[in-house]
Order: sequence, then C-alpha cells, then structure tokens
Amino acid sequence: MHVIDRHRLTSLVRRERIAYAAAHPASSALHAAATHLLGRVPMTWMAKWSGGFPLYLDRARGNRVVDVDGLEYVDFALGDTGAMAGHSPRATVDAVADRIGRLGGITAMLPTADAEWVAAELTRRFGLPHWSFTLTATDANRWAIRLARLATGRPKVLVFAYCYHGSVDEAFALAGADGEAVSRPGNVGPPVPLDTTRVAEFNDLSSVEAALAHGDVAAILTEPALTNIGIVLPEPGFMAGLRELATRYGALLMIDETHTISAGPGGATRLWDLQPDIFVIGKSIGGGIPTGAYGISTQVLRSVESHAEADLIDVGGVGGTLAGNALSVAAMRATLEQVLTDDAFAHMIDLATRFTRGVQDTIDRVTLPWSVTQLGARSEYRFASPAPRDGTSSAAAGDGDLEEFLHLYLANRGILITPFHNMALMCPDTSSADVDLHTTLFAAAIDELARTP
Ligand code: PMP
Repeated sequence: MHVIDRHRLTSLVRRERIAYAAAHPASSALHAAATHLLGRVPMTWMAKWSGGFPLYLDRARGNRVVDVDGLEYVDFALGDTGAMAGHSPRATVDAVADRIGRLGGITAMLPTADAEWVAAELTRRFGLPHWSFTLTATDANRWAIRLARLATGRPKVLVFAYCYHGSVDEAFALAGADGEAVSRPGNVGPPVPLDTTRVAEFNDLSSVEAALAHGDVAAILTEPALTNIGIVLPEPGFMAGLRELATRYGALLMIDETHTISAGPGGATRLWDLQPDIFVIGKSIGGGIPTGAYGISTQVLRSVESHAEADLIDVGGVGGTLAGNALSVAAMRATLEQVLTDDAFAHMIDLATRFTRGVQDTIDRVTLPWSVTQLGARSEYRFASPAPRDGTSSAAAGDGDLEEFLHLYLANRGILITPFHNMALMCPDTSSADVDLHTTLFAAAIDELARTP
C-alpha cells in the first residue's frame, strides 16, 4: 500500500494555495473587503472552500460556473445538490420567469394549481400519499419531527452517529460512554440538556434495537445511505431491518432523501422499496429555487388528525409564511416535470459510474488505501479502504490536508467538487468529456503526490 509523504503533501498544498491566490485577485479582493459579513461570507459554510477565500460567482449555466476573475469551471459541486438539475435549467427558469413576470405573485398566502400536481408527482415517485411544502430540507425535517412526536406521543428521535439533516437540533448528537446522547463536538449553542435524541451506529441493527428498547423514540431519522460523512452505503438487510424494528417498537421510519435522490428518479426509497412512514426532501427539486417537502403515510395522517387540540394551522410550531409560495411550487413543477426526468437520471448515473471507475483506476494503480463509492448520480472517495461502514469510522477517515490539496489542485485546473469532503455530483448537462477531465486531473494530482522526490 502506498503511504502518503506528509512533507510532500504540505509543500504541494502551499504551492497550490499560491497558485490559487494568484489566479483569483478579484475574488480575493471581494473577500477581503467583506467586513460586514459574519466570517466575510454571506453564509458561514461558504468559508469552507479551500484556499483561504471562496471564489465569487459571476454566472453559471448547466454544469459550468464562471467566477469574477473570468475563469470557468466544470462544476461537480452543484450547490451540494441544490443545483443537481444543473444551474438555471431552461424549463425552471421559464416557469419561474412566468410566475414572477407575466403572472406575478411570488408569495401571496394563496395556493396555486401547481401544488397538487407537484404533490401527485412526489407520490408517484416516492409513494407517500400526503405532502406539505417547505423552503428547505432543514425545515421539512424539523416540521416532520414535530408531526412524528404528535403522532406517537413520544419525545425522542433516533439518529445515526455523524448524520447530517440540516440544522436540526435533534440530530447533532453522538452516543456517550453510557449510551445516552451527548452533544456532537462543535455543536453551536446546543439545546440544554440534550434529551431529545438517541444515537445508534449505521449498519448496526443491534445498536438500533438497544436504542428503541427504551420505548421513547418517536422516529428513526436517517438517510438511506449516509452522505454527509462520505457516502456510507447500507449493507444488505440493514434498511429492511430498520423498517422491521421501527414497526416492532412503535417508532416511525423517517427517510431523508435530500441527497440520496441521486439514486434515481424515485430516490433510494423506490430503488430499494424502503416503505417510510415519513419522507423528507429538499434542495434539488426546485432546480435551485428554495423548496422542500415532506410526505406522510395515511396512518401518520390519521394519528395527527386524531389530535384535535394540535394547532397545525396557526402558531403551533409547524409551518412558515413563505412555504408553499407560488414561485417555489412553480419551480418544483417545472423541475420535476421537465428536468429531473427518468432520461436525465439514466444519463447522470452512467456518468457517475464513469467518474467512479476513473477514480478507482488511479486508486488501484497507485495502491492507495482509499475507496470510492457511488450512489446513482453521486460519487465520493474516502481516505480509507475498505469503504467505512458506519459514521464513526468514516469520520475517522477524514483528512483535511489531503482534501485541501485535491480540492485546490482541481480548482486551479478548472474543476470544482463540493467543499464538504470529496463529493462529485452529475447533472443533466454533465458530459463524458467533463468526467474524463476529472479522471485525468485526479490521476495527475495523485501522481504528483506519490512521486518520490
Ligand atoms: N438533509 C440532508 C440529508 C442534507 O444533506 C442536508 C444539507 N446538506 C439537509 C437535509 C438540509 O438542507 P438545507 O441546508 O438546504 O436545509
């Protein structure tokens, strides 16, 4: 197995940082002048980009991004799935422009006819019969957790170590020494005390059963594959085991497919026949316009409806003024109807397979102790082999220096991958030439790293 020379890595990071700064004077100047923004960025996550400052966006179309220094990139980050439909897809732009311009009425506290079409389409894709809209996946998770508590009369949510479901208080927990939930390191201003959560390990049904046995879990909240700590795929039988345990212990199964919709037009839910009680999605389905949605089963609906005292309509804790607005619903309809189609998914998944093969070839040739994992249109490499099978071991495989080197090496040569770990996503506009460019550059980066001085 090849061992990374850390000395060499450090000097390569330095070289790439200098090249990055030299190539982006306009981005660098805008960042330096942004003194009124927390962390100098409009959203603190944007500080995550390697190189000391983010690139400033000038324009983007399809899978191409152009920064304010006039440099163009092949974009595999795609807004961390928010732009999975490609940047400004024509059908979405037309529908949004029609709503904003010709029709008017961006947000009016009134439904539009598009909403029922979108809900029916979500039912066709994911199976759940009753839908409500949000503007983010975070809100969809938060509000659906409220419904799960109401429906079951139980207080806690079971999550997996190193999951991520948006800024959802219940999800930032790890298991402490006694098995009780403790706040995850870095959790900003955590709820005190953290008594909302039970934590299990992905791919470990016995840890799930131990947590459920307390009888206080309203819902198991999970992605069908973890995607926010690298990709951790479920082992055969794990998801079916979750379904069975949830039913046996009276908890709801809540599946968050915000990222794993990469698996196909009906996400992993349809691909693997998951049968969730509650389903959550966001980001991609509005083609870049803020949207989210959650779906519930008829049984959950009945339980919710049996609580006449619950204020679902006014200030009961579930809802948002702008959610379901005419603009976001128009964007969802156009994106689902015309952009994220079956054909588009087939194309994207083929390309992700090609991308994954390209990365695997270099890993094999250089005998790196790394792995690459594909989930439909999404591919990610991790600095561990075999691929980690749970969140805790995947977290241990993180390597900030390696990530910075690879991200900067690619960015300096015209490719963006997500700043969070090493994810690449295909969109309908991605081409095999784009993927092959990545394959070539990834191989070149590794060859430089592995070369003996
Ligand atoms: N669920 C999952 C699985 C996610 O990965 C994310 C964000 N990365 C969210 C929910 C939250 O999405 P948003 O930040 O757009 O609300």
